[in-house]
Amino acid sequence: MEFDTIAAISTPMGEGAIAIVRLSGDDAIGIADRLYSGPSGKKLTEVKTHTIHYGHIADPDTGQIVEEVMVSVLKGPKTFTREDIVEINCHGGIVTVNRVLQLALNHGARLAEPGEFTKRAFLNGRIDLSQAEAVMDLIRAKTDRAMNVALGQMEGRLSKLIQRLRQEILETLAHVEVNIDYPEYDDVEEMTHSMLIEKATLVKNEIEKLLQTSQQGKILREGLSTVIVGRPNVGKSSLLNSLIHENKAIVTDIPGTTRDVIEEYVNVRGVPLRLVDTAGIRETEDIVERIGVEKSRQVLKKADLILLVLNYSEALSKEDEQLFEAISGMDVIVIVNKTDLPGKIDLEQVRELAKGSPVVTTSLLEEQGIDQLEESISSLFFEGSVGSSDLTYVSNTRHIALLSQAKRTIEDALDAIDAGVPIDLVQIDLTRTWELLGEIIGDAVHESLIDQLFAQFCLGK
Ligand code: GDP
Ligand code: ZN
Repeated sequence: MEFDTIAAISTPMGEGAIAIVRLSGDDAIGIADRLYSGPSGKKLTEVKTHTIHYGHIADPDTGQIVEEVMVSVLKGPKTFTREDIVEINCHGGIVTVNRVLQLALNHGARLAEPGEFTKRAFLNGRIDLSQAEAVMDLIRAKTDRAMNVALGQMEGRLSKLIQRLRQEILETLAHVEVNIDYPEYDDVEEMTHSMLIEKATLVKNEIEKLLQTSQQGKILREGLSTVIVGRPNVGKSSLLNSLIHENKAIVTDIPGTTRDVIEEYVNVRGVPLRLVDTAGIRETEDIVERIGVEKSRQVLKKADLILLVLNYSEALSKEDEQLFEAISGMDVIVIVNKTDLPGKIDLEQVRELAKGSPVVTTSLLEEQGIDQLEESISSLFFEGSVGSSDLTYVSNTRHIALLSQAKRTIEDALDAIDAGVPIDLVQIDLTRTWELLGEIIGDAVHESLIDQLFAQFCLGK
């Protein structure tokens, strides 16, 4: 395939120590060479591949030196895009980096679209679609665990599993083919029948296992939407501040996303909490009072996790009980705060109302009990499943949708076999399953989908 040469700043915007202008395409080295001069006088077009060169970037029209740089020259196909790549490492801050980029653009390169480097890697066969999506997830990963999921996917763990399942289906289809071609052999039909059931069941089970990981995968990717509720003055803001201060708050800068509620991310032992409506907590103190019981019930129902705060130094009130009612059936952690004060609350009654949800006591003022709180947050979501780090998670919405469809078609196939439906009809369901799985790794994907996917990337990736 032939592509023009693209360029972009491939490091995050802002005052980083180093910023990289990356070029990819047939003329990448040529363009860089027009801007570069090094102490040895050697041209970049003459150097060995995968080498780094010290020198200066100057405007060829004026001779004016713009930046002192290290330039990496990477000749295709052993590169991320499989094309020639040049990376110009700058250190002078955003203004100079932009000038270097501008020079590259003035001398033959085109500004890369968001995700275009990764798109080329995909189009040139370097990575499959699920791996490309993993690059995007990596950029957005909010905790180390989320990062590991994306890395695993990028290494192709999901792809390998999907390929294996497709292989199983293909083998089965081959048998079915034989059966259709030689209908006179009864034993072939017998064998095909039991093999069909066996293989289809295997594929179905694997798909189900993958889908089961999807809830966790999605949480790791998007964060657990968390709402703090409680009567005024129980310590909601204190809890919010404590969570933010104790844990690295996660900066999100996904461009183009507008949010109607203010959110803050914190990383609690690998669980990314997306604290929803934190402005509400800060400004008006009481979600129920502010938007009414019915409305707040709806907001609460959308949350993945509720942190219900109670006051240890006061008896349970009617309002507390109403809150318990509003959140029944959800994932709740009850926090009984202000244990430094004399106790008036009936903890037995709290446990009863909590109906098995964890109850933690804290004194946010004296910074007591925060460890236990974090422990219960993380065990609520990782109990039993994490630690097995080799688990293949599915976290991507598109993958989940395709897997759900594939689960349905393979179930249709199994039902059809069961009902004694002619084998060539079973074949249709099997083929459809095979296709759906193929879409996950980018076989047979529609071109507009590809464009749309890659457009979601950050610039320069
Ligand atoms: P909110 O109205 O639920 O957001 O509660 P705040 O977090 O604003 O806290 C209300 C008051 O309780 C503030 O004066 C806090 O300093 C105080 N407070 C918070 N946590 C504790 C605690 O554990 N012990 C005591 N004694 N006071 C606390
Ligand atoms: Zn407050």
